[in-house]
Amino acid sequence: MPDNLTIARDARLWPIEEIAHRLGVPGETVEPYGRGIAKLDLAAVDALEGRPRARYVVVSAITPTPLGEGKTTTSIGLVQGLQQLGHGATVALRQSSMGPTLGIKGGAAGGGYSQVVPMERINLHLTGDIHAVSAAHNLLAAMVDNHLHHRLDTDLDPQAIGWSRVMDINDRALRHVVTGLGPPADGVPRQSHFEITAASEVMAVLALATSLKDLRQRLGRIRVGYTRTGEPVTAEEIGAAGAMTVLLKEAIKPNLLQTLEHAPALIHAGPFGNIAHGNSSIVADRIGLHGGDYLVTEAGFGADMGAERFFNIKCRASGMIPDAAVLVATVRGLKFHSGRFAVTPGRPLPTAMLAENPDDVRAGAANLVKQIDNLRLHGVTPVVAINAFPSDHASEHAVIRDIAEAAGVRAAVSNHVRDGGIGALELAQAVVEAAEGGSTFRFLYPDELPLDAKIERIATRLYGAADIAFSPEARRQIDLYQQQGQGHLPVCIAKTHLSLSSDPTLRGAPTGWTLPVREVRLSAGAGFVYALCGDMRTMPGLGRDPAAAHLDIDDNGEITGLF
Ligand code: ADP
Ligand code: MG
Repeated sequence: MPDNLTIARDARLWPIEEIAHRLGVPGETVEPYGRGIAKLDLAAVDALEGRPRARYVVVSAITPTPLGEGKTTTSIGLVQGLQQLGHGATVALRQSSMGPTLGIKGGAAGGGYSQVVPMERINLHLTGDIHAVSAAHNLLAAMVDNHLHHRLDTDLDPQAIGWSRVMDINDRALRHVVTGLGPPADGVPRQSHFEITAASEVMAVLALATSLKDLRQRLGRIRVGYTRTGEPVTAEEIGAAGAMTVLLKEAIKPNLLQTLEHAPALIHAGPFGNIAHGNSSIVADRIGLHGGDYLVTEAGFGADMGAERFFNIKCRASGMIPDAAVLVATVRGLKFHSGRFAVTPGRPLPTAMLAENPDDVRAGAANLVKQIDNLRLHGVTPVVAINAFPSDHASEHAVIRDIAEAAGVRAAVSNHVRDGGIGALELAQAVVEAAEGGSTFRFLYPDELPLDAKIERIATRLYGAADIAFSPEARRQIDLYQQQGQGHLPVCIAKTHLSLSSDPTLRGAPTGWTLPVREVRLSAGAGFVYALCGDMRTMPGLGRDPAAAHLDIDDNGEITGLF
């Protein structure tokens, strides 16, 4: 099979206006951004409101190996399969950060014959939304430091400023910085830090805003720090929220592209999946949900993380309710959960994992069974999508089918990467049946449950923790947020994505362990509280041999080394 970039480059793109027509949005809301790319004005949301509602399908996965189990490819393959069955189907995806693209992970526009195109544009800059988020975030940082410099607010405590600076490049040298060095005219010195833009609260805000008005209000609620007497200081009080919204006025418009089989693809917003909710934007889903028969949306990491936040954070903010869920499982993923192989992040999987061995697959079953239960806890019965890799064996697929059958859910082998939509027909059919069966969706917890009880509920019911250990600092923060009237917010637990537990080395479905909650922080603008359980890096570094070292361009402008 040709590589991803070759397949993508050989694709014949339809004019983006035709894709917009498939989606049903009025022509005047389509703003072309180069060949095969358009932004959709938010007027499209209202224009589609009266049309029938599509079935809403969320795609999640077993706990992933460091390489990913193929949620993006499966989401794309599924809409192509649905389209082959004669349904109008749209896929909604996160925009990937350039950090991983230039670092280790490569592109994030799917693979093989299930890709969104043009892939070079998706993986590098696209329409500049991420840079707009950086600009809005850094404007707020500049205005905070300006407050200190001009003593505009003598109460603002320089030691209690939590607002970072961001950019969309992995750069570990910026994890700890001192700003404002030099003579007094060059600002007030203070220790600060850089994060990657995907970790910015502004990115989470962009993803969760339901309208331009809501975006403006959420940005205003962002807390940048505290006064010397401990009162919160917001972006509104700094006077930055209006200008930040202005800088984001194009970024709030979803990007419309197409899959290799010309299904509409909405790529919009890319918040981190650990300290933030890891789901694409609500405004894109609002358009897609009235733009055909099916809207397939991807949630980051495993079902315990991305899908849990899809349900309890994104759906809570949007009021939109899913009809079905897909749980991506792979042979290599379940072998990983057998615990029989040593896997190192940033390195290829061991070759021993590729040999035919159904027993190794069965030994990892506990993770699949637990993630099925995690979706069911929300009243949604999943379809298990067996994402077929060239190294798989039929006997190994049969094991995954058996596990799904024993758990009472549908399963389908999907060859969408090799064959495109035709390879996903069995999966598409299973999803249609599941969606027609309907869901009895429910949140995992009510708003009024106190923050610590919310954390405990997620940890014990979804992760399988036996107990929670709150540090004294975490306890103090929870009490403070409760007192400050933030106790109604949903919670996001920042833990490793490589295990159901908080220990990245534990495979399968670990039990009897304790979740250590080190710190609890508030994203008042985005509208959630997040609990830090383990070391979460918000500014990644580059490896010894970063993908960037293999990226080049020839004299004709053809990129090489993007994957
Ligand atoms: P996720 O969204 O779960 O992180 P992706 O869909 O981005 O995963 O896939 C991760 C990587 O694995 C990508 O490089 C993709 O091209 C590759 N991949 C996914 N599914 C397959 C498959 N069935 N066969 C070959 N490669 C695949
Ligand atoms: Mg993905």
